Amino acid sequence: MSQTYDVAVIGAGIVGAAVAFRLAERGLRVGVLDAAPAPATEATAKSAAGVRVQFSEPVNVRMSAYGIEEYRNFEEVVGAAAGYQPIGYLFLVPEEEAAAYREALRVQWEVGVRAEALTLEHAREIVPFDPTGLAFATWGPDDGIVDPHRITLGYLDAARRKGAVLHMETEVLQAGRTGGAWRLETSRGVFEAGAVVNAAGAWAGEVARRAGLELPVVPYRRMVYLTGPIPEARGLPLTVDVATGFYLRGEHERLLFGRSNPDEPPGFREGMDWSWLEPTLEAGLGRFPWLERAGLDQRASWWGYYAITPDHNAILGRMPGVEGWYNAAGFSGHGVQHAAATGRAIAEEIADGRAHSIDIEPLRYERFLEGRALREQRIV
Ligand SMILES: Cc1cc2nc3c(=O)[nH]c(=O)nc-3n(C[C@H](O)[C@H](O)[C@H](O)COP(=O)(O)OP(=O)(O)OC[C@H]3O[C@@H](n4cnc5c(N)ncnc54)[C@H](O)[C@@H]3O)c2cc1C
Repeated sequence: MSQTYDVAVIGAGIVGAAVAFRLAERGLRVGVLDAAPAPATEATAKSAAGVRVQFSEPVNVRMSAYGIEEYRNFEEVVGAAAGYQPIGYLFLVPEEEAAAYREALRVQWEVGVRAEALTLEHAREIVPFDPTGLAFATWGPDDGIVDPHRITLGYLDAARRKGAVLHMETEVLQAGRTGGAWRLETSRGVFEAGAVVNAAGAWAGEVARRAGLELPVVPYRRMVYLTGPIPEARGLPLTVDVATGFYLRGEHERLLFGRSNPDEPPGFREGMDWSWLEPTLEAGLGRFPWLERAGLDQRASWWGYYAITPDHNAILGRMPGVEGWYNAAGFSGHGVQHAAATGRAIAEEIADGRAHSIDIEPLRYERFLEGRALREQRIV
């Protein structure tokens, strides 16, 4: 006996949850399948929880603006809190990046979001830093943080109230299309669905392979370090030293900080990489010498997987040439903020034939086949 749905969503992270909610809202019968014992346990639980409109590509600015608006009004959307706190994002811009950051501000203003350039003096009143080599800072007053776990559960609870069914500990092992429907063999039996959404995060490439498809999404491990209590931490915005990629923000009375390792090889490599702490701190202390006063809390630090595509941007929409298969994966370090827009776009793509309230054209798979990779400069 197989279980049958209109749409099977693979993945119960924040992306799959948003997609499931928007599909169920349209009256479609939705089954969410996830290998893990509980929702929001993978990248969604490991993120730095940042949301920001400060991107350089219009599509990413719009996706984030949509997400911030939805999370701001989350009580009205799903009847739960999203934990949105507009603590702001501050980018410290080196001289050599000044022109690119001015151009990005122009893009953001054209989209209609709030972002501005700050003098270094002004920025240093918000976060103390060494201004050597910097031109100015950019500030997004509506940028901030959310609670990805509560958002995921909020979407899933709302989806379930509209008839969606959540199947945990249900790993998709193999998939194939027969007789006008997808047949999914899982660790908990067979499921059939007219459409499948691949929202399997860092595993999306592997899930595609199990369906005989190719999706260029690979896992890369990323670290987030946490300090012990330090008075400077409270209320600090998410601050990015663009020159080194080092970022920090306040997490109540502690600091959370990190930096992507450009030499991290792809793959599912488990555990903390403590050897990356020194290069991270070296970059951080150069810009924020007061960090020296913060002690590291090793046991509270964590790691997770970015899902990375060739241009570090998501792949959204129908799989070219494949009936009933939809991609919603490859969000690199910005899937929390892009989940809400993705839910809307993928539901439209399935129910209406094409995403229409958000233009996802630049994020379609076809860009890689046609040499149109996105040139987003604000990948953190
Ligand atoms: C360290 C770190 C910091 C980050 N910081 C931010 C940030 O500040 N802001 C931001 O917007 N984003 C951030 N991100 C990125 C963000 O966390 C992700 O883009 C987002 O959570 C992706 O959600 P998802 O639902 O696609 O994936 P996930 O949450 O990983 O969910 C995927 C799900 O698919 C399931 N799955 C996998 N394979 C199968 C299978 N075969 N069958 C069934 N189920 C399967 C998994 O069990 C998992 O539950 C960060 C990520 C990391 C790792």
